[in-house]
Amino acid sequence: MPRGKALRTLHELPIVKGFRPFWMRPNYRQGIVLCLEEYEALRLIDYEGLIHEDAARKMNISRPTVTRIYEKARKKLSQALVEGRSILIEGGDVKLNGVHFMCEDCNHRFVVESSLNGNICCPKCQSRRLISLSECFVRGCRRCRRCR
Ligand SMILES: [Zn+2]
Ligand SMILES: [Zn+2]
Repeated sequence: MPRGKALRTLHELPIVKGFRPFWMRPNYRQGIVLCLEEYEALRLIDYEGLIHEDAARKMNISRPTVTRIYEKARKKLSQALVEGRSILIEGGDVKLNGVHFMCEDCNHRFVVESSLNGNICCPKCQSRRLISLSECFVRGCRRCRRCR
């Protein structure tokens, strides 16, 4: 990944952690890792239909850089499709606007400024069974129940 210029702060994380192919046993070692800026480039260019210049502006990177990230992401998707590999979305040179959580009981997603006081519960159902999406997506996770 090109270092230096910080990527746009992400306000939302993908709704799933990845994809598993039919017919194949789940095996993370064979999985392809799509990092968050690759996901974001695909989302902006393919899903939202932006031209590369606009996607680059939104991601706060240069046009050649966004094209490079996008082409890498497309290559990975086609590899997963053709080779029957799972896709894991995680890591990358991104910042988040806060600490993202998902409630295990009601699936509600919410963001807090910091998790330092350790006393966080779901604002909808008050459950304390929470998954740290920030940890799961940014640092990489095999521990939470959703990722197994
Ligand atoms: Zn809840
Ligand atoms: Zn996880």
